[in-house]
Amino acid sequence: MTERTLAIIKPDAVKKNVIGRIVQRIEEEGFRIVEMRLVHLSKDDAKGFYIVHKDRPFYDSLTDFMSSGDAVVMLLEREDAIATWRKVMGATDPAKAAPGTLRHAYGFSIERNAVHGSDARETAAWEINHFFKS
Ligand code: ADP
Ligand code: MG
Repeated sequence: MTERTLAIIKPDAVKKNVIGRIVQRIEEEGFRIVEMRLVHLSKDDAKGFYIVHKDRPFYDSLTDFMSSGDAVVMLLEREDAIATWRKVMGATDPAKAAPGTLRHAYGFSIERNAVHGSDARETAAWEINHFFKS
């Protein structure tokens, strides 16, 4: 079934100049890019987006990182988009991500892991609305 997910190219990957390579991979994997925008999140924007992690020890560091530079937010569509995009990204920790995944290729650490993807239908709907209110 056609589904939508939110993807982010995080500031570490933008600084590495790999937006193009990641977008190419997205196209090769058969996603349709419905919306795409370069953003520079404020600290408060990042805290709002990652509110689900507010009690985690890495929340402050993560939101500093996510507001440290430009990021690319994208609304992606394809069959089984949520699970497919998570598979293309790979495990959260690049050291554990399978070869061929984006986090294996471009991630630097469990925090600076190049890309974001929604993890379920409900979170995808919330995250998409967060950046692309229709
Ligand atoms: P995912 O992005 O794979 O869904 P989580 O939702 O668990 O992973 O975490 C959100 C983001 O928080 C991760 O992508 C990563 O940038 C950061 N993060 C997760 N776990 C840690 C950790 N143990 N230390 C530092 N940052 C982390
Ligand atoms: Mg997550």
